[in-house]
Amino acid sequence: MPIIDQSVIEGFREVSNDDLTIDINGKSHVILCGLCNEKITFIGEVDIESGQAGCAKCGNIDSVEEVARIATEYVKDEGQLIINRMARDTARNSEFMTVSGQTEHDKSHRFIVAELTF
Ligand SMILES: [Zn+2]
Repeated sequence: MPIIDQSVIEGFREVSNDDLTIDINGKSHVILCGLCNEKITFIGEVDIESGQAGCAKCGNIDSVEEVARIATEYVKDEGQLIINRMARDTARNSEFMTVSGQTEHDKSHRFIVAELTF
């Protein structure tokens, strides 16, 4: 079974229009608020080192570093779930295979990543 390699997550960066994105497999993905699915932005000063980012709408705000950590964790968890779902769907067509891996998140992430594909 493939494992999501941490190296596919290349980093956290800002883009010119103030959206915060994370690079996965060379593609940048917008980070969203995990509570209301709004795009998150820098709060106050645009500073990738020591600034704050989050959702102005519902007040889900943290340091940029923490936002990046949670978004990265989401990507890794989601990657594993996608693999588990694929395994489950394969097993469904087989009499001889059962899959018991988790297919839904068992915890909520305060920051998530849009349009995640692997
Ligand atoms: Zn929000």
